Amino acid sequence: IQAVALTDVAFAYPQRPTAPILRHTDLRLRAGERVGIVGPSGAGKSTIIKLIMRWYTPDQGTIAVNDRPITTYSLDQLRQQINDVPQVAQVFDGTLRENLTLRVTAFTDAQLWQVLDWVHLTAAIRRLPDQLATQVSRDRPILSAGEVQRLELARALLHPSSLLILDEPTSNLDVVNEAVILTAVQHHYSGTVILVTHRESSLALCDRVLELNHGQLRPRQHAGNPVETK
Ligand code: ADP
Ligand code: ADP
Repeated sequence: IQAVALTDVAFAYPQRPTAPILRHTDLRLRAGERVGIVGPSGAGKSTIIKLIMRWYTPDQGTIAVNDRPITTYSLDQLRQQINDVPQVAQVFDGTLRENLTLRVTAFTDAQLWQVLDWVHLTAAIRRLPDQLATQVSRDRPILSAGEVQRLELARALLHPSSLLILDEPTSNLDVVNEAVILTAVQHHYSGTVILVTHRESSLALCDRVLELNHGQLRPRQHAGNPVETK
C-alpha cells in the first residue's frame, strides 16, 4: 500500500496566483514508513501538509492516501485516516477527557491513562483535583505549552489512524518535551509518519529524510545542512 502519494502537484495560494509554492512536486510514502521533511523556511513544507489534509486543493496533479485519491473520501473519512499534531497545539473548551477523546465515549479509563503515560502526563493530571474531569479552555491554561502538545499527541495515539503528521511538533519545546514526544511516537505508533522539523535531533525518528527546495522533494544530501542543529 502506498500510504501517501503526491503526483505532479502544483499549488499557489489564491492570494498570490503568480507565485506557485509547489510545481511538479512528487512524494511517495509506503505504509509504515517514517519520513522527515526538511528545507528552508517558506519552502512549502506546511503547504504540502495542508494539501494532504485537504485544507486546500492543488491546482494540478493528484494526492492519494492509502491508494485512494483524497477527493474520494468524505472529509470525515479523511480525518479518520490522518492525525495531525500542529506546531502550536491548543485545547478546546471542555474537560481534559473531552480534549483527549474528542467526545468519543468508547474509550476506557485504562486506555486513557495508558496513552497519558506514554506522553508522560499522568503525574501532571493526577495532581489536578478533578483529574480528567478538569475543565480547560484557551483562556484557562492549566497545562503548559509542552503539556498541551503532549495531550494532543496522546489524542492522536488514542484514535486509530494510518497516517500521523507532525508539523514542527517540537519547535517551541524544550529538549525534554521533544524527547518524550519522539519516544512515544517511536514506541507506540505503528502507522506512517510525516515529520516536518528544523531540528536535526528529531530526525533520528525517521527512516529517511527528504529536502524540499523549489517545490522538489529530494533525498537529503548532507546531514546537518541546511537544517539547524539546536
Ligand atoms: P514552510 O512550512 O516550508 O516554512 P509554508 O508552506 O508555510 O513553508 O509556506 C510556503 C510559502 O507560502 C511561504 O512563502 C509563505 O509565506 C506562503 N504562505 C503560507 N501560507 C499562506 C497563505 N495562507 N496565504 C498566502 N501565502 C501563504
Ligand atoms: P514546558 O515543557 O511547556 O516548558 P513546564 O516547563 O512548565 O512545561 O513543565 C515541565 C514539566 O514540569 C512538566 O512535565 C510538568 O508536568 C512539570 N510541572 C509543571 N508544573 C509543575 C508543578 N507545579 N509541580 C511539579 N511539576 C510540575
